[in-house]
Amino acid sequence: MDEDKRAKYTYLFEKMISTMTDPENFVRQEFVDLLAEICELFHIAKGVTEFYKNEREEREGVGEILIDYDNGHGEKVVIAKRIVTKTKAVIKGTLYCAADEPPYSDEEIEKLDIIIRALLSFISRNRLLATVEQLAFYDEDGYPNLNYFVRHLDYLIAKGKVYNKAIILYNLRQFSVVNREIGREFGDIAMKNYYLRIKSVLDDDGSLCRMGGDNFVIVIDSERLESVIDIINGCPIVYDKDDEKRVMISAAAGIFVVPFDFEFKKPGELFEKAYIAMQYAKIEQKGTIVYNDNKMRENRKKILEMRRVFPTALENKEFKAFYQPKVDVNTGEIVGAEALCRWIRDKKVVPPMDFIPILEQNMDICKLDFYMLDTVCKDLMRWISEDRKPVRISVNLSRKHLVDADIFTHIMEIIEKNKVPHEYIEIELTETTNDAEFRDLKQLVQNLQKEGIATSVDDFGMGYSSLNLIREIPWNILKVDKSFLPVDDENSNVTSLMYKHVIAMALDMGLECVTEGVETGDQVEILKENKCRIAQGYYFDKPLKVDEFEERLKVRKYDTI
Ligand code: C2E
Ligand code: MG
Ligand code: MG
Repeated sequence: MDEDKRAKYTYLFEKMISTMTDPENFVRQEFVDLLAEICELFHIAKGVTEFYKNEREEREGVGEILIDYDNGHGEKVVIAKRIVTKTKAVIKGTLYCAADEPPYSDEEIEKLDIIIRALLSFISRNRLLATVEQLAFYDEDGYPNLNYFVRHLDYLIAKGKVYNKAIILYNLRQFSVVNREIGREFGDIAMKNYYLRIKSVLDDDGSLCRMGGDNFVIVIDSERLESVIDIINGCPIVYDKDDEKRVMISAAAGIFVVPFDFEFKKPGELFEKAYIAMQYAKIEQKGTIVYNDNKMRENRKKILEMRRVFPTALENKEFKAFYQPKVDVNTGEIVGAEALCRWIRDKKVVPPMDFIPILEQNMDICKLDFYMLDTVCKDLMRWISEDRKPVRISVNLSRKHLVDADIFTHIMEIIEKNKVPHEYIEIELTETTNDAEFRDLKQLVQNLQKEGIATSVDDFGMGYSSLNLIREIPWNILKVDKSFLPVDDENSNVTSLMYKHVIAMALDMGLECVTEGVETGDQVEILKENKCRIAQGYYFDKPLKVDEFEERLKVRKYDTI
């Protein structure tokens, strides 16, 4: 090596060391240029480094391979180094030269050896830092996690940038159904693409992280809230690029916009505000978007109050069974009725939609449903003893009961205790969205079936109806939701077509059909045309108080047909 080369080497090597030991001012491109200069000085044609998290990865060749420099002539190995770190990571570096390159002197090899060692220890430190970052701030699917979010929030707070930011917690709607419909693998892709879609509207100070499962959290400038809300309300997401297949994804969300005068001690308090709104959005169960503001706080107070008074209200018999007749459209005869719950509170009638979703949140609904079943059994036995010739009464059972392993026994205990003949009881259940529930639902329906207790699928067509649900579970009755019933609007053609096919299919499968929400004489005609025998709806009667229903039982027939 001549003096010039030696001097140049010393200069480049020192520069390299100072770059590597000054991470604050590290500029990647400068470093790459520096390595290229070193390679040129030593006639190195190609430099390759390899990083493996452990020796298994090395054996399987599944690490990261970086080509640091390559002029296209690297054919002969000049020097190769391999180091194993304390954490068992393996880092390898290899330098190549052209095939016709004269042999290197001992001094040159010694200098290259020093360079490569320095480089490997630098890379090893960087990669390990990246691995630690990955483990701490990302989940196993590669999404930034809650730690990442908290770190970002801390940064915004420190910079005084957190005010007027919106914190959004969202939960994907019916994602278990999406998984079931398109398969788990495509489901994962859909979730990732939905995430990327939202990420694309974030600004530099925004972030989006997964909190686990299908729960995510966003922080974004509130000026940009609209664009996120559009996506949360629902948008088509491609999950199979080859076939351009799409699935609609939407979410329930809780939002908290941090007011300029908001005082807090910990970042968790901001998160908590959005969390409360999100819980509220879920209670509403419509996948709505709820802001944590005064209106929500008012509503929340009402909910807490309702939960507080529920046990006493139940004890005081404030809940009443109202009966809505089911009518044979060919004869006008009453062939059954549905028991619908009403809460008589301070002499006012509270409709079920105002309390059932709330009671479903903490399982209080189970107490109410059993109470309703018991009330219906008692009414039935009274009608029998008074010789009123009762009809079969259906009772709604919330899906929440399915987590109770003894649900069937509980139902039977109530029926047996009241000694009700089984043919007078029908249980209405709604569609389920997840596999575990589906199995429990099937088991329950089969057990009731054996006892001669009829079961119906309620609100068919409302949610994500699955044909599996009616094929695999031995239901007796399909209750077609009123949304299937054509009304006079521009979609009525499609609706009538769907209605026609749903009824035809159910009849083919041997199911009895009831159409709910029948309000007009024209609609009764549609039922007749499609051979749906039974109607339930305001056209005949609203849900009636028990004494009014008993009057109907006397007459047993409508002459409006
Ligand atoms: P559902 O089981 O589908 O009951 C039918 C609903 O449609 C009732 O609402 C009924 O009043 C309404 N309806 C009947 N005919 C018509 C019509 O012609 N037009 C319109 N627009 N609506 C009609 P309701 O009584 O408000 O009950 C709402 C829901 O609350 C029920 O839907 C059921 O899911 C739930 N529910 C009611 N009582 C109970 C109960 O005791 N336990 C449980 N778990 N859920 C209940
Ligand atoms: Mg029902
Ligand atoms: Mg219904």
